[in-house]
Amino acid sequence: MKEVIEKISKNYDSFYLYDEKGIHKSIENLIKNFPGVDFLYSVKCNPNRQVLKSIFSKGIGADAASLNEVLLAKECGLCKDQIYYSAPGKTIKDLKIAMGNATIIADSLSEIEKINSIAKERKTIEKIGVRINPNFGFYQKEKTPSKFGIDEDEFLNFLNETLSNIKIVGIHVHLHSQELKIEVLENYYKQVISLARRIKAQIGSIEFLNMGSGIGINYSQQDEAIDIETLGVITEQIVQEFKNENAKTKIFIETGRYLVGKSGYYITKVLDKKKSCGQTYIILKNTLNGFIRPSIERMVLEKNPNSSSSEPLFTGKNSFSFSTLKEDSTEVVNLVGNLCTATDVIAENIELPILEEGDLIIINNAGSYAAVLSPMQFSSQEKPGEIFLRKNGEIIE
Ligand SMILES: *Cc1c(COP(=O)(O)O)cnc(C)c1O
Repeated sequence: MKEVIEKISKNYDSFYLYDEKGIHKSIENLIKNFPGVDFLYSVKCNPNRQVLKSIFSKGIGADAASLNEVLLAKECGLCKDQIYYSAPGKTIKDLKIAMGNATIIADSLSEIEKINSIAKERKTIEKIGVRINPNFGFYQKEKTPSKFGIDEDEFLNFLNETLSNIKIVGIHVHLHSQELKIEVLENYYKQVISLARRIKAQIGSIEFLNMGSGIGINYSQQDEAIDIETLGVITEQIVQEFKNENAKTKIFIETGRYLVGKSGYYITKVLDKKKSCGQTYIILKNTLNGFIRPSIERMVLEKNPNSSSSEPLFTGKNSFSFSTLKEDSTEVVNLVGNLCTATDVIAENIELPILEEGDLIIINNAGSYAAVLSPMQFSSQEKPGEIFLRKNGEIIE
């Protein structure tokens, strides 16, 4: 990896590096441990085309959060029944183009009606899924108000109405991301299965049950990585019972960060170094604007040290670490960026090997919610590169 990074850095002052080997390892880990579950990749966390093609080639479908993500997934090799389009506020145009290219997950009752009228005009019957805001929470028993989906009770009442041109064939629930406790996920999956039973009792059969995401990754050194093997065993037990009664129902789990989060690195070059009032500043290329999350973390924790996660913008303390390829005696420095704003700081008073102009800083956990969230238009800076490292060592720019 060191040689690859050095080689790429000859052409780029800042870049993301996505490692296919790591991505495929995560995929294999899930497939091996969850034989009764199919997986969908949440495109929004990293829509890089090489990443998409690589993931889809392993039999993973797409969880698309916009019409453009539907079309991107199609371009990268998936067909209609492998793409699930779930998002609030889809426009008529979104719906018209998405019908025929994806399975639409309706997010509100009015959206169901819109799909029904489009299908009526086209004299077709559209099979859709529905996102449900269930009568339970992720951490607590009680339901909570949400902008996502249709409240469970409201949906069950709605099933008494007949709409001629839609058929509801699937259910989608997603309440939370970045969970590291197996017991919490276990309880959540059990609740989703019981919801599926309540709905099935009314609609007869279900073609797919999408249990959403939740599986987290270890960001800081204090985080304990989730034991996927154990989670797999527990999930299989929960899912198998349902599958025994519903042999034809496909069960999905969605995941973005688990597949790519830890296989992405952000690399930035030292542009200048200076001292001010006894402090040493290392000025780096494209920090806040190239990979926003380390600077946000610092800002959030400065205002409120006990702040809890606001995914996907802020996870928690020390979610990202900074390393260099140098081995040298160390000094205490501040890592800042080249923007004309004082908030462009990614680390203060950290100890690193003595850096000089041209040296590199490598930030980990940069595979998901990284390039896509960063304000790269700000200050009209040259954008970071996005580089894909194939399993065979080939570097794709
Ligand atoms: C963003 C999102 C995901 C992906 O979450 P990860 O934590 O990256 O796995 C899955 N499902 C839905 C509905 C989402 O909005």
